[in-house]
Amino acid sequence: MSKPMRAVVIGAGVGGLSAAIRLAAKGCAVTVLEQLPNAGGKLNLLEDRGFRFDTGPSLVTLPWVFEDLFAAAGEKLSDHLELIRLEPICRYVYPDGTGFDASADLPTMMANLETFSSGAGEDFNAFFGHAARAWRGSRQPFLESAISSPLDFVKNGVPWADIGALLPFPTLHGLAARFFDDSRMQQFVGRYATYTGSSPYRAPATLSTVLYSEYAYGAWYVKGGLYRIATALEGIARKLGVQFEFGATATKIQLEDTTAPIMPDRKQQAVEAVTLTDGRRFPADVVICNADAATLYADLLPKHLDERSKRLEPSISGFVMMLGVAGETSGLEHHNIFFSHDYKKEFVQIFDELRPATDPTIYVCISSKSDPSQAPPAHENWFVLVNAPPTGGTDWGKEAEPYAARILELLAHRGYDIRSKVVTQHLMTPSDLETRYKTFRGGIYGTSSNSVSAAFLRPKNRSSRVEGLYLASGSAHPGGGLPLVMLSGKLAAEAAIKDWKP
Ligand SMILES: Cc1cc2nc3c(=O)[nH]c(=O)nc-3n(C[C@H](O)[C@H](O)[C@H](O)COP(=O)(O)OP(=O)(O)OC[C@H]3O[C@@H](n4cnc5c(N)ncnc54)[C@H](O)[C@@H]3O)c2cc1C
Repeated sequence: MSKPMRAVVIGAGVGGLSAAIRLAAKGCAVTVLEQLPNAGGKLNLLEDRGFRFDTGPSLVTLPWVFEDLFAAAGEKLSDHLELIRLEPICRYVYPDGTGFDASADLPTMMANLETFSSGAGEDFNAFFGHAARAWRGSRQPFLESAISSPLDFVKNGVPWADIGALLPFPTLHGLAARFFDDSRMQQFVGRYATYTGSSPYRAPATLSTVLYSEYAYGAWYVKGGLYRIATALEGIARKLGVQFEFGATATKIQLEDTTAPIMPDRKQQAVEAVTLTDGRRFPADVVICNADAATLYADLLPKHLDERSKRLEPSISGFVMMLGVAGETSGLEHHNIFFSHDYKKEFVQIFDELRPATDPTIYVCISSKSDPSQAPPAHENWFVLVNAPPTGGTDWGKEAEPYAARILELLAHRGYDIRSKVVTQHLMTPSDLETRYKTFRGGIYGTSSNSVSAAFLRPKNRSSRVEGLYLASGSAHPGGGLPLVMLSGKLAAEAAIKDWKP
């Protein structure tokens, strides 16, 4: 590059860090502006009395995406992070007391399922084959490309057999019902819709790819806690010369009039600078927005430039309890799921009635089971997460404490009464997520995939209205979750470099 491109990245979440690293590795002068005092965004850390809690993500999937990002910076992931493959992936427990351990080893998974429910092992094998075709058809053309329409799958030469597996009808739950007679197995498959912030009863069958990616590539933990990913990425970015400004809230992306390259008589606008609440101004050739697309269009740009689809629904949110617990609990693994009695009702309450589920599915992650550094001796760090509605229907200021008590009561009914053993408790509600990260209605994953078209309506990585503006976040293509957000940063950085004319 003759003249280095000046890139300003708004947000030091994983999407912003991913884009910043890739741009800096190509010689760009990159500044990251982050309103919080540290990097990571939703990938964050809470420490209290010897307990360490990853406050957001607890599970790493698709580790090759992480390796690819380190490689783009000329680094090896294993020099910075120790990834531990978890086996079993997760212990699933049903209200009737039955359950199974999910394994990424197919013969073990089939054997475990066969013991759990006659025929379920073979059914899983068949389902996994279907999901593999859907994955093969979508990985390159969807996850790793700036897709804009379903026709792109055909243009990218995806074989018809794989396109068949990608068809969005029925819903993920409907697809599960085709493969599994046992309603408990349907609940298990449907759970993977929540990885994209969606309901299994509305999200397309294409999300079988989410299950496939976990079982084909494994479930991973980072020794020392997942927050290490954020510190490692920040360190690599700094090494490449990226400048960080923390406590720096962007208030406006300043625009200048420019001539559209294809239609010279048409004026369009291009980014010029980013201004902060404290009045500072950062000139920019390129702006990468890692802040939620909703924040971008509501706060940082004039309203008429809003490119979001009105049909997009916010992703599911989460109600989180971080509990320091005395003693060591037997019968639980690193990841555990306690399924609700009525899964459909749970999602109706969350998405249609916008209220916390009365009998939610409860996820319990105890990373100290694999990594004793996460809790004091003879104690455990319980990260309890339940699906929660986007903000707008619940006064969490009033509801948080009673809801936390309700969840502990439900766990007690399942045989895990820790109420007298909790030595420290921190709660994080959908309202906290919304305020802390400026995220659209507290959504964990940006927008939901609760419709067939959601994947194509999600904001693109390159703005079509503003020259030099790119989006790298869970609210942009290809969606939420750590690996997808890293890919979002990659697509945004690649587009910016391709478009750059010094
Ligand atoms: C409870 C929970 C559990 C999760 N579990 C998992 C999991 O197990 N596995 C997984 O892969 N994913 C999980 N996720 C999802 C994952 O955390 C997100 O998809 C991902 O971290 C989002 O990254 P991002 O870069 O898009 O956005 P964010 O992390 O939200 O980063 C955006 C950044 O922009 C900053 N910002 C916003 N506005 C401004 C402004 N005006 N000026 C300056 N800075 C600004 C914010 O402060 C923030 O730091 C979970 C999330 C949560 C909350």
